[in-house]
Amino acid sequence: MSTKYDVIVIGSGPAGYVAAIRAAQLGLKTACIEKWKDKGGKGINGGTCLNVGCIPSKALLDSSHKFHDAREHFSIHGITTNDVNIDVPSMLERKNAIVKQMANGVAGLFKANKVTPLYGTGKLLAGRRVQLTANDGTEQILEAENVILASGSLPVNIPVAPLDSDVIVDSTGALEFQEVPERLGVIGAGVIGLELGSVWGRLGSKVVLLEAMELFLSIMDQQVAKESNKILAKQGLDIRLGCRVTGSEIKQENGKKVVEVTYTDKDGNEAKEVFDKLIVCVGRRPYTDGLLAEDSGVKLDERGFIYVNDLCSTSAPGVWAVGDVVRGPMLAHKGSEEGVMVTERIAGQKTVMNYDIIPNVIYTHPEIAAVGRTEEQLKADGEPYNVGVFPFVAIGRAVAANEQDGMVKMIAHAETDRILGCHIVGPSAADLVQQVAIAMEFGSTAEDIGMTVFGHPTLSEAVREAALAVAGHAIHIPNRKKRK
Ligand code: FAD
Ligand code: AMP
Repeated sequence: MSTKYDVIVIGSGPAGYVAAIRAAQLGLKTACIEKWKDKGGKGINGGTCLNVGCIPSKALLDSSHKFHDAREHFSIHGITTNDVNIDVPSMLERKNAIVKQMANGVAGLFKANKVTPLYGTGKLLAGRRVQLTANDGTEQILEAENVILASGSLPVNIPVAPLDSDVIVDSTGALEFQEVPERLGVIGAGVIGLELGSVWGRLGSKVVLLEAMELFLSIMDQQVAKESNKILAKQGLDIRLGCRVTGSEIKQENGKKVVEVTYTDKDGNEAKEVFDKLIVCVGRRPYTDGLLAEDSGVKLDERGFIYVNDLCSTSAPGVWAVGDVVRGPMLAHKGSEEGVMVTERIAGQKTVMNYDIIPNVIYTHPEIAAVGRTEEQLKADGEPYNVGVFPFVAIGRAVAANEQDGMVKMIAHAETDRILGCHIVGPSAADLVQQVAIAMEFGSTAEDIGMTVFGHPTLSEAVREAALAVAGHAIHIPNRKKRK
């Protein structure tokens, strides 16, 4: 007799493990299947986010930022440092310890909430049954009232730059370089390419990012994207827009493997560049390999994502799908919120998710963060709006911290003043944009933020001043629009 669960979750990334915990909190008998193994071959939770995504990348971003700060910026505080060096293996060891700590934390939460962790591969069969092939090779069929598919995503590989474990790697390989590459190429100046390029650039690599699109961060607000491009270029990142990679060849140079990349530049000319390492960061694809039996009843959309409606219900009754494997931005918190919505719906609640207010962050330094609509989207939608922009150079706390690059851009509806979007490049942009996300969730106007008392001196004052600037009332800059 197989055990029957109320909920079986396949995948324990941020979408799956959050769904499993919330299901168990709601009193549902829950199991979570995970196939990921650590380097020792032991089943481990956390998915891409904890193992090779958000967390290890931020660990390396923080280490490399401290190194770069010590080398380049301590002197302006009067601090002299001799011989600041980086020991890459120690930096990686720290990152690995953080990953282990966080992944073990998920196992601890499963235990505390009475989620049954199952380590192996899950396959959805017809009729809400799941075939589990455990890591020891044994097979069993499990049954559930509801199945939640949270199998995530994988990096996209492109034939013009096939991975080669030594020289051409994906984002996972770029978290494991044992030494700082002298010349680093990155294909794709998107979120992941910029973050990983920043890590190694700060440690001393000469970084060239080749980006096919002519616009930098084309889906972000272009005023903030342009400002970000300037700041990152000043830091030494060589971002080449309109450059499409068309080929790559592994070569020998002074007895060492290197890669020669061929690309078409923005004028249509062919160009070549040699790198010691090349990171392919051209996006991620939904991971459904081996997940669905032919008669599972679950349909995929034309791009290979599991097809779901607004409530994350698939085309098979009682089967749901959440996270990177379904449409929408590939962000950990988006999947987690979908996991909460689905489990609460299973438990009979009426939870819905607000897809219009999902913050999005690029963890360069300074950070680039956004929530809501961009000025370009509003123009295209024909929505009337007002904009308030405030630079960090006019914020005392930012100047005191030597963090004066960047700005806050607030966009509000021209008639109702309701906040429609906020776009920030600057210190702690991720945390600042979250304040606006909360305000937007409560339907705030720009005036509401302007009327809130903000502590001084704080970086948050830039958010308030940008909100005041929407009506031409900012105090610490001359306002372009002067209104009473
Ligand atoms: P995943 O985290 O991919 O988890 C899916 C899990 O399902 C995996 O563990 C997989 O092994 C398991 N699985 C798949 N198929 C099966 C099966 N058949 N049986 C059993 N188990 C299965 N997002 C952010 O929001 N912020 C960031 O700062 C950020 N930084 C990133 C940095 C990098 C370098 C990368 C690569 C990604 C980053 N992301 C970030 C994206 C984020 O990691 C993903 O959006 C998130 O992990 C998706 O969560 P998920 O649960 O849907 O899928
Ligand atoms: P993201 O979707 O944020 O992960 O970013 C991936 C980026 O890779 C996109 O901006 C694409 O335009 C870019 N890209 C995809 N293929 C190529 C290519 N062959 N050469 C250069 N850039 C590419």
